[in-house]
Amino acid sequence: MKSMDVGLACSEDSDYFYHVTPDEVDELVAALQQARNPNLTIEPFPQHAGTAVYALTFTDPAVPRDRKKGVFVARPHAHEPAGVAACTELAKLLAGYGPRPEADAEWRAHVLKRFVLTLVPDVNPGGSRRAPVKFWTGTQIPREQFKLWMFGESGGTPGERFPRVDTWDMRKVTPPKLLGIAYEQINEHEFVEPNRDHRSTLFRSFFALDPTWHYELWLDLHQTEFANSDRNCSVHLSSAHDTLPVDLQRGHEQAARAILAQWSRAGARPVAEPVVSYRHDEVQRNFLAKAWLPISSRMVHTVTEVQNHNPATPPAEQVRLQLIAVLAALDWLDGQA
Ligand SMILES: [Zn+2]
Repeated sequence: MKSMDVGLACSEDSDYFYHVTPDEVDELVAALQQARNPNLTIEPFPQHAGTAVYALTFTDPAVPRDRKKGVFVARPHAHEPAGVAACTELAKLLAGYGPRPEADAEWRAHVLKRFVLTLVPDVNPGGSRRAPVKFWTGTQIPREQFKLWMFGESGGTPGERFPRVDTWDMRKVTPPKLLGIAYEQINEHEFVEPNRDHRSTLFRSFFALDPTWHYELWLDLHQTEFANSDRNCSVHLSSAHDTLPVDLQRGHEQAARAILAQWSRAGARPVAEPVVSYRHDEVQRNFLAKAWLPISSRMVHTVTEVQNHNPATPPAEQVRLQLIAVLAALDWLDGQA
């Protein structure tokens, strides 16, 4: 059964309410907790900042694990809100709170039978709390200012970006004038880029849950600006893709192409081919491979990038494209032996 007709009704209503900010996600999680849904397990991962990260795992417990596929979906960077909304929309659909609960009942039953689906809407609510807006529309804040919000503003040279690094220590740098939204504080002094350091709550939640749920697909929902491009979405493969065994390369590529095909059908403007990140930048490639090779050498790992901070892709469209990507990945995995 195909997923594409499900859950997209939200984007037809311009007043539709998305759960995105940490308070909104907490409110949704509290409602889900209260409902005591037998198909949902909620696991909290406290952050140093005091905020809690929630992993929401949906599955039909009556179906044995060996007849299901395990999928982990997360939104790593706190300045990229559409992935949070996509995860909370899916959670609402799977809990029967979507805009059309009856129409989606058959799809919901199918997904719960076929998958163990973990959604981590926001792995860094501590960072999200620093965002001045719910969605970046590209109209309210100039691009140069947005760049400072993302990774911070230098304390030594105000007006310049704070460097993008995997980890930094408040005691060893001039403290930033503006603390970047993307960074996660992991102790009194240290900050990490969640996508590049295994001490982040992104990796901590995955490694804590994987022994229980045994994931076969990891999908990360990212956003970027697509500056100087007429494209508004792309799918990325591991920076170490070329070094993986050929059969594994094929799995990564098939999942990526399934997403690209559904985006094209839905009228989006994807970059035509899956992108191997930093293929020609050895430093960045090795940097990312250190964090991701242990993952992408044993399971399919797929990264979406949906346009952020650009009026060409308004918030509802940002969310719709992320939702389409998750549903396409599920449909692809459903069809695998
Ligand atoms: Zn990102």
